[in-house]
Amino acid sequence: MEPGVLYVSIPYRTCGHLCCCGCGHDVITPLSPAQWSIAYDGENVSLAPSVGNWSFPCESHYWIHDGRVRWSRRYSAAEIDQNRARDRRLLDLDTTVPKPGPPSRLRRHLRFLRP
Ligand SMILES: [Zn+2]
Repeated sequence: MEPGVLYVSIPYRTCGHLCCCGCGHDVITPLSPAQWSIAYDGENVSLAPSVGNWSFPCESHYWIHDGRVRWSRRYSAAEIDQNRARDRRLLDLDTTVPKPGPPSRLRRHLRFLRP
C-alpha cells in the first residue's frame, strides 16, 4: 500500500491503509455494522468510527474524514480497555462479519479510491 491512500474492497468488505502517523504499519478496517463504515460523497471518503492503533508502538488514534486525517486525543489505558471490550461485544453480536480470506487474495481486490 502507498502512504496517504485509503484502499477499499467492496467484495471483501474491508479497507486498508498505512498508519497515518508514518510508522508504516498496515491498518485493516473491516466493513460491517459492528466495525467500520465508509461514506463516499463523490469526491472524498470518510471512515467511521475512528482508527485506534493501540496495538502498534505508535498508538496513533485518528479519524479519516472527508479525505483528510483528523488526529484524536491520546486515550488512557483504561479508555483503550473500555473500547476493546465494547468492540468485542459488538463483534459477538454481529452475524454479518465475514470470515477473513487469505491476504494474497485480498490484495488482488484492493481498489484505489482516492489519491
Ligand atoms: Zn503508526
